[in-house]
Amino acid sequence: MIIAIDGSAASGKGTLAKRVAAEFGYDYLDTGALYRAVAFSLLNAGANSNKIDEKQAVNAASTLNLLLTQTAEIRTDKVAALASIVAAIGPVRAELLSLQRAFAAAPPSGRGAVLDGRDIGTIVLPNADLKFFIDADLDIRAKRRTKELLQAEQSVMFRDVLAEMTARDDRDRTRLVAPLKAADDAITIDTSKMDASEVLALALSHINRVCPSEQ
Ligand code: C5P
Repeated sequence: MIIAIDGSAASGKGTLAKRVAAEFGYDYLDTGALYRAVAFSLLNAGANSNKIDEKQAVNAASTLNLLLTQTAEIRTDKVAALASIVAAIGPVRAELLSLQRAFAAAPPSGRGAVLDGRDIGTIVLPNADLKFFIDADLDIRAKRRTKELLQAEQSVMFRDVLAEMTARDDRDRTRLVAPLKAADDAITIDTSKMDASEVLALALSHINRVCPSEQ
């Protein structure tokens, strides 16, 4: 069973993906962490975030140290902003594509895979068994992100988070390659007025409908 979960920043897609994976003993891949890790390694190499060299970005993607995807350092808004800039470069996406598909084709548990990102249902895994598209009001998402960053002891202000998220969403939705959008066959969930348990319960009801034997 392969489940694709796409959506906007701080929509709750990551939390849902982790919980669905835990529920069924599936493996989870946070594909945003791949783009963040590429951005982080570029920043470490002294790249100028206002003028990214495409060759350098492609090289960072093709030589990516996957351990970086597990580090807390990639969880800043600065890294997220650069991630969305490098994510608009087609050859960078191409470098990361086979890795994502290989994970879904042979998840370590041998049971199933849940991948979350922006283009999983549209480009990475168009034949996924089930696709969700998760979204929420911008203001609510920015509040959630501010809370998360403050909990991680980063000093941030709501208005800066809101501005960064607006710009990032805009880049992700309007880029030419693999823009953020719902696949035609995705189930859309608006999490604005839902908590994480309600979102999980709703997603599980859809999974149960499509594949009753998984329950
Ligand atoms: O999901 P997260 O917020 O960590 O993703 C960081 C950035 O990586 C996104 O804003 C987006 O530009 C990029 N991304 C992408 N495609 C994916 C996952 C993330 O373009 N599948």
